[in-house]
Amino acid sequence: MKKLSLHWKIIIGMFLGVIWSILSSFFGLSSFTINWISPFGDIFISLLKLIAIPLVLFSVIKGISSISNISLLGRMGFKTLGAYLLTTILSVSIGLCIVNLVKPGAKISLSQRQENNLAYEKWKNGENLTVSSSELNSQNKLSDEKLKKIKNDVDRQKNNSPLQFIVDMVPSNIFESLADNKSMLKIIFFAVFFGITLVLIPEKEASVIIGLVDSFNSVFLKMVDIVMWGAPYFVFALLAGVISKLAGDNPVGVLEIFKGLGIYSLVVLGGLGAMVFLIYPAIMYLFTKKTYSHFFQSIASAQMLAFSTSSSAATLPVTMDCVNKNLGVSTKVSGFVLPIGATVNMDGTSLYQAVAVVFLAQMHMVDLTVSQQLLIVFTATMASIGSAAVPSAGLIMLIIVLDSVGLNPAWISIIFPVDRILDMCRTVVNVTGDATVCSVVESLEN
Ligand code: ASP
Repeated sequence: MKKLSLHWKIIIGMFLGVIWSILSSFFGLSSFTINWISPFGDIFISLLKLIAIPLVLFSVIKGISSISNISLLGRMGFKTLGAYLLTTILSVSIGLCIVNLVKPGAKISLSQRQENNLAYEKWKNGENLTVSSSELNSQNKLSDEKLKKIKNDVDRQKNNSPLQFIVDMVPSNIFESLADNKSMLKIIFFAVFFGITLVLIPEKEASVIIGLVDSFNSVFLKMVDIVMWGAPYFVFALLAGVISKLAGDNPVGVLEIFKGLGIYSLVVLGGLGAMVFLIYPAIMYLFTKKTYSHFFQSIASAQMLAFSTSSSAATLPVTMDCVNKNLGVSTKVSGFVLPIGATVNMDGTSLYQAVAVVFLAQMHMVDLTVSQQLLIVFTATMASIGSAAVPSAGLIMLIIVLDSVGLNPAWISIIFPVDRILDMCRTVVNVTGDATVCSVVESLEN
């Protein structure tokens, strides 16, 4: 019998995870799943993250030091950032078009929307700072305390200088940055600097380090293979845990969560689907002549992992593996383009943020003008660049987008109940976008 490929095994693992969680929910065994199965999912994410930082460090150094001409690097950087920016703007625009056409927020009853509008007016006058219970259509909500903490963090960020993001990219202590999973850009900065310097010193002195970096890189790539061997079992645990935490011992409750947020979720999923199934394959075909099925077979494992971990950063080692082995991208390009993409390129996140803001405005009967919607394109692009590549980061950065068009940032509580599921899907888009741009840059370099 032909051996089943890894992505099929992962799909089966995910499917069984869903079935298991539904059954355990029906039989009142959710806490068993959460206590005894879900921890293996957490172990999987830790293993992937464990590999991600050293892999990024060594692959970027290896990539840069293999570029003999530094001006080539500048050109590649320019193409990479340009392609990332263009796909993000395209993605936000698609989201805005669909949400304005379908108007999911207007599907809610008129009386409910009038009530919501009243609450919004009160908030504008400074009377009602949180979200009233009538605006929330689920028990599964974000606690006010947590919301306040998130808002304080974002306010602190907003009060910084506009150049703060550049300041944040430059590490003052690389060992401190290496110990922090959120410091990916700092690590990339250090690795680029280190790689350029390696090119500038005499070859005789550089060769030992280059050989060492090469070997380290191979070790961490092999680690990805080893961890991926267990991926089908780990994703079973991950999905069983996520759904059991969502549903508890009341499986019907999950359906309840989607009540009222169903059309909104479908609009987000429609936009994300358009990116994954239409836009990226078309871009791939245009630039690399890779066919639809070849593209999907090549990156399916990375997509499945993005879906089950909700983290582009945790998926990064596998994305690198897929584009190198299956899409034929050189490590010189992937080592540079993918780590940057995992941190700054989030097409799915920006699309979701655009849809969410307009949906929330619609359900509060607030009309957004064309210039406000253009502002959403800008802020959603910026907010997605600023979002960390971890679960729910996009929801938190949504506060900035809501704030930019004068809406109540606390409204993120309204869409919080369905966030995890949408997060899983938008992370697939983020990872697919990174792999696409990486292949495009490769084709432009040759
Ligand atoms: N979870 C997403 C990622 O890691 C970010 C987000 O949209 O929350 O790509």
